[in-house]
Amino acid sequence: MAIAPTLTALSLGAGVQSTTLLLLAAEGVLPRPDVAIFADTGWEPAAVYAQLDRLADVARAAGIELHRVSKGNLRAAATDPAHRYASVPYFIRNPDGSNGIGRRQCTSEYKLAPITRKVRELLGANPPAFRRVPAGRVCEQWIGFSTDEIGRVSDRRRVKYLTNRYPLLDLGMSRKDCQRWLAARGWGDTVKSACIGCPFHGNRAWRDLRDNHPGEWVDAVAFDAAIRNGGARGSSLRGTAYLHASRVPLDQAPIDRITRAERRDDQVDLFDVLAEEGDPDGCSPYGCRSGTPTQGRAAA
Ligand code: SF4
Repeated sequence: MAIAPTLTALSLGAGVQSTTLLLLAAEGVLPRPDVAIFADTGWEPAAVYAQLDRLADVARAAGIELHRVSKGNLRAAATDPAHRYASVPYFIRNPDGSNGIGRRQCTSEYKLAPITRKVRELLGANPPAFRRVPAGRVCEQWIGFSTDEIGRVSDRRRVKYLTNRYPLLDLGMSRKDCQRWLAARGWGDTVKSACIGCPFHGNRAWRDLRDNHPGEWVDAVAFDAAIRNGGARGSSLRGTAYLHASRVPLDQAPIDRITRAERRDDQVDLFDVLAEEGDPDGCSPYGCRSGTPTQGRAAA
C-alpha cells in the first residue's frame, strides 16, 4: 500500500517546465506543493536569478515556501587548485589526439545532493548532517518532465523517503505546450537554467552570451582558459579541457558556423540541432543526458 506523502516538494530548476509547474499550482490547476526547492550552483546567469526572484513572488503569494539551497560556487570550486574536483563534462583532447568527454558529476553534487539534503531536513532528519529520515516520512517530489521527455522518466526509487511524480505527463503537456502556456501568461521570456560556462551550451547560447551578455561571456572565456589543464585538485587531467565541442579556446570556437550552414542548407540532423541549441532543457537535476563514461580522465 502506498504511503501518503508527508511533504510535497517541487524541484524548481527555474526553466520552462518547472516554472510551468509552479504557475499551474499557483493558479490552482494543480494542488499546491508544500515547498519548491531551487539548487543554486552560484554560477547562473543574471537572467535566471531575476527569473527566480519573480518566481519567489509567485510562490509567496500562493503560500508555497521557496527554498534556495547550495553546495557552494561551482565556478570557484572548479578552478581552485586547493579544491577537490567535481567533474564537469568538459570536452577533452587526449594526448594521443583522440577526443573524450569529462564525466558529469557536477549536477548530482551541486543540484541533486543539496535538494535531497533539504528534503531530509524538512522530513525531520536531525542536524547537523540531516542524514536519517524518521521512519514513515515520505516526500512526493514533483519533477518537470514533459511528454517529449518521457524517456527520462525512471521508476527506480533512489531512496525510501522520496517518490517522484511527473505532473506535466499527467496533464499531457509537451515542452512546446509549456512555452505557449507561459507566453499566454507573460512568462514567454523564461530562460533555461544552466551555469554560465556549461559545456552543454549549444552555439545559440554561446552567441547569446557573447552578443547580449558581454560580462558573462568574458567570464566564460576566462573560465575556459583556466580549466585547460583541469583546474581543481584531483587526479591530473590527461589531455586538455575545453568548454566548446570543437576543442579550441571558446573565444576562437566556431559558434557562428551552424547558422550559416543552415541558411545554405535546410537539412538539419540531430547532431546539428544539439550543436546549435544545446540541451533543450537546461540543467535539470533529474534530466542528465550524458552519463557516458569518460575517455579523457577528468574526474577525481
Ligand atoms: S549547468 Fe552544466 S556545468 Fe552546471 S551543473 Fe549543470 S551540467 Fe554541470
